[in-house]
Amino acid sequence: MEKELLFSEETIKGRVKALAKSISSDYKGEEPLFIGVLNGVIFFFADLMREMTVPVTMDFLRATSYGSRMNSSGVVRITKDVEIPVRGRHLILVEDIVDTGLTLSYITRKIRAEKPESLRICALIDKSERRQEKVSIDYRGFLVQGGFIVGYGLDYENRYRNLRDIYVIK
Ligand code: IMP
Repeated sequence: MEKELLFSEETIKGRVKALAKSISSDYKGEEPLFIGVLNGVIFFFADLMREMTVPVTMDFLRATSYGSRMNSSGVVRITKDVEIPVRGRHLILVEDIVDTGLTLSYITRKIRAEKPESLRICALIDKSERRQEKVSIDYRGFLVQGGFIVGYGLDYENRYRNLRDIYVIK
């Protein structure tokens, strides 16, 4: 499969640093709970957490949406839930990529029902072209129009996750 470089490792590093700086300054004096949405978020989450300058706690959830990878169906199932109690906590949900927004809107609705003190969204890539559900991304790494993106955690049929740079599949 042919792919074209979109964001280099250096560019990603710079953005992640800037995001962590901005989140750290917004949460001065707090200890936010970061919830990573598996699997695609792994490298972004690990890098972002290590750039944070306020104390953090971390947990993960995994959501699977039925349908093919290219076409999110909107039917979302939580296959691994958050284990740290979120009630009364300042939460930051960390996503790899927001496409239609269906996965994120399902997850945020579910988490809001558990009454956190606050909830913000951080996404590495905001892919705006196919958005169906309005979601507000508070901290965004990159805005892209469309295309299928792989690398730095993002996969196509479970491949390419370990690439250091981000590519768009041709
Ligand atoms: P959404 O529900 O359509 O916003 O899709 C969310 C999920 O679909 C993401 O968390 C990814 O796992 C996957 N996804 C959407 N677009 C891409 C892409 O371009 N590359 C890799 N995975 C993607």
